[in-house]
Amino acid sequence: MPDSSTKKDWLHEAILRIEADFCRSVDTHLIPLPIPTYSAHGIDLYLKDESTHPTGSLKHRLARSLFLYALCNNWLCKGKTVIEASSGSTAISEAYFASLIGLPFIAVMPKTTSSEKIERVEFYGGRCHLVDSSIEMYKSAQELAIQTGGHYMDQFTYAERATDWRGNNNIAQSIYTQMSLERSPIPKWIVMGAGTGGTCATIGRYIRYQRHESQICVADPEGSVFLDYFETHNPNLSSNGSRIEGIGRPRPEASFIPSLIDRMIRVNDVDSIAAMRILSNILGRKVGPSTGTNFIAMLKLANELKQKNIRGSILSLLCDSGDRYLNTYHDENWANEQFGDCSSATKTLNQLMQAN
Ligand SMILES: *Cc1c(COP(=O)(O)O)cnc(C)c1O
Repeated sequence: MPDSSTKKDWLHEAILRIEADFCRSVDTHLIPLPIPTYSAHGIDLYLKDESTHPTGSLKHRLARSLFLYALCNNWLCKGKTVIEASSGSTAISEAYFASLIGLPFIAVMPKTTSSEKIERVEFYGGRCHLVDSSIEMYKSAQELAIQTGGHYMDQFTYAERATDWRGNNNIAQSIYTQMSLERSPIPKWIVMGAGTGGTCATIGRYIRYQRHESQICVADPEGSVFLDYFETHNPNLSSNGSRIEGIGRPRPEASFIPSLIDRMIRVNDVDSIAAMRILSNILGRKVGPSTGTNFIAMLKLANELKQKNIRGSILSLLCDSGDRYLNTYHDENWANEQFGDCSSATKTLNQLMQAN
């Protein structure tokens, strides 16, 4: 048993390593997404490119926050195994931070998780424990924590509280700073998909705190209970979960807070896939499927503004790169097998974007 001063030394060193890593980092880019049919009407679209974090997704922010929160709560110590339930992106980012502070890491993931993601977790020295479905992850993660004497990080509970919502360099503060010289600097809408719900909680609270007019729209994929929960507040909802990696859940998660959301839009899977492909063509590089889901909601809101003759900006996130999904969502055969033919959805979207 180490004495208390050695324990404290370890803790201070771990926090310092995470802070130093942050100090070496730069902010993510905000990309304008000019679509003539909207910009001609004074409607500007933007994507905050969260794929450029060292671990490739917006979960880099969450993982940093969760580790600092756990360390400052004195929940971690030398040699303690960190365990997380994750559809993949969080596991990759947490594996990175666990290795940064020298702790063993186990990710509990659904067996459908793409092999690219599993390889990334292992690249950072993490171990993957695969379970049959995403609803089984939670219990399995809890059991592993007991067996190993480890710490279950539990992103779905703690995401909403681990990040400083007043600012301190959170994603919301960064968005408003980066928008400051645009023609409509305060977005009419900020569009998000919800996985943990943590990002919309941070942005939603920040908007109110800063007394901005922006509204939050959550794009929810097929199979997720979030939209029903938003409407009914029934805590007992359950489903088989979503087929868009990273967003939509089979149960209402503690970090998903409906009072922070102004509106939700259901997005069909074929539309998400079609939008992911179209957006990848516009940007000249591949985006992940949840970014496609966001893009559908952005287009719907842009059309509404256009019809009402309202000018303004709409902002969303490029959550991760399509390079993680080359053998799945970006493989046409795989996508056709999973979701059916997406060509008519693609045609409809293209027509929508070309209309005057
Ligand atoms: C986690 C995740 C989201 C949703 O973010 P939350 O803050 O967890 O709601 C969207 N897209 C991808 C790829 C993700 O991994």
